Amino acid sequence: MSGHSSIPDPSAPVSAAIYERLGVPRRINAAGTLTRLGGSLMAPAVLLAMAQAAEASVDISELQSAASRVIAGCTGAQAGIVTSGAAAGLTLATAACLAGWDVNRMAALPDTRAMPNRILMARTHRNSYDHAVRLAGATIVDIGHNDRGTGAGVRGLEPWEIEAAIDANTAAFLFVATAETLADLPAVLATVHRHGLPVIVDAAAQLPPRNNLKTFIDAGADLVVFSGGKAIGGPQSTGILAGRRDLVGSALVQMMDMDVSPQTWSPSALIDRDALKGIPHHGIGRGFKVGKEDIAGLLVALERFVERDEDAIAEQFTARLQAIATALSAAPALTARLIARDGVDQHVPLLELTVAGSAHALSRRLQHGMPPVHLGERLAHQNVLTINPQTLRSDDDAVLVRCLIESSRSAV
Ligand SMILES: *Cc1c(COP(=O)(O)O)cnc(C)c1O
Repeated sequence: MSGHSSIPDPSAPVSAAIYERLGVPRRINAAGTLTRLGGSLMAPAVLLAMAQAAEASVDISELQSAASRVIAGCTGAQAGIVTSGAAAGLTLATAACLAGWDVNRMAALPDTRAMPNRILMARTHRNSYDHAVRLAGATIVDIGHNDRGTGAGVRGLEPWEIEAAIDANTAAFLFVATAETLADLPAVLATVHRHGLPVIVDAAAQLPPRNNLKTFIDAGADLVVFSGGKAIGGPQSTGILAGRRDLVGSALVQMMDMDVSPQTWSPSALIDRDALKGIPHHGIGRGFKVGKEDIAGLLVALERFVERDEDAIAEQFTARLQAIATALSAAPALTARLIARDGVDQHVPLLELTVAGSAHALSRRLQHGMPPVHLGERLAHQNVLTINPQTLRSDDDAVLVRCLIESSRSAV
């Protein structure tokens, strides 16, 4: 495959026939790859892989072994599996750190009374996805203070604070990666590894740039999770768990259908049968099963993501956002500002719209219009709405502008 210069923006006009038949309105999504809006739009090549996968039976653990080879190639990790999203990946990563190859512990989860069960996190990294860690039965212990978060001081988490928190009941450290936290990762890895404990990195939304597929593994992370349904452009119900072979194997066996007979079970090469004292039951991850179609779709999307021409895509996005900004000069209540891609911490160009009036009120009007339109609301408390081009079909740009001009008339 040669480099892909475009994002998965289907060239054919949108049909949406299935949504029409179901009576569900199609939405113009300028808010990004949000799960509640269905995640990424998928390229025809991804859909083709899913259709082909649907036509025959395979051994899922063999398919996950093949996935492991593809993911290892793209990330530099020893191994990797397709999960049902990054949040599921966090639960499985936690389960792997809690149980390892211990079948007794696998069977006990989420009851962790008989095993080390504390997962350390910097207080500044706490977020609503850490429920996925508690789901496996772990207890999150947040450490350090929040001076940077509150602006009260200059210091982040320091090695001595991690040292002081590690005890015999500690199972792992969870690090939430962002452009701002990356500088703290080496010290966390060095300190936690000194105690022989693993570090899980939540890098769910840290793509693009594609280099980040390797960044955290290169730094020494034991496990890393990525979303498949965000920038990678895979099925929205997929994710990647990559890292140490033993931990990825433990995660896999805790996710698989284990209604197998001991006489005939032939596990995937990722699963160390000698390390297992017996055959595990259905594990904590059994509810996170990933279909063969989703695995195939994610792998093709990942290959395409790695081969993409990121510069060309960013230029296309920028040109479209500039055209939208120009057209919005007809909307007196909106002031558009391009947030350019800088390749440092801004990897996707955005258009910020400052609203004269209430951004929340405008956003609500847009969402209830026809067609419904979604803009990013992360800065709405500052009266700013954001246009993210990643899930905006180029043939919807003009509709978006029309809806914005109409809806913002009543904002002033
Ligand atoms: C999106 C996100 C997740 C969840 O990813 P899914 O693939 O939707 O499960 C977890 N952590 C962070 C930081 C995220 O941004």
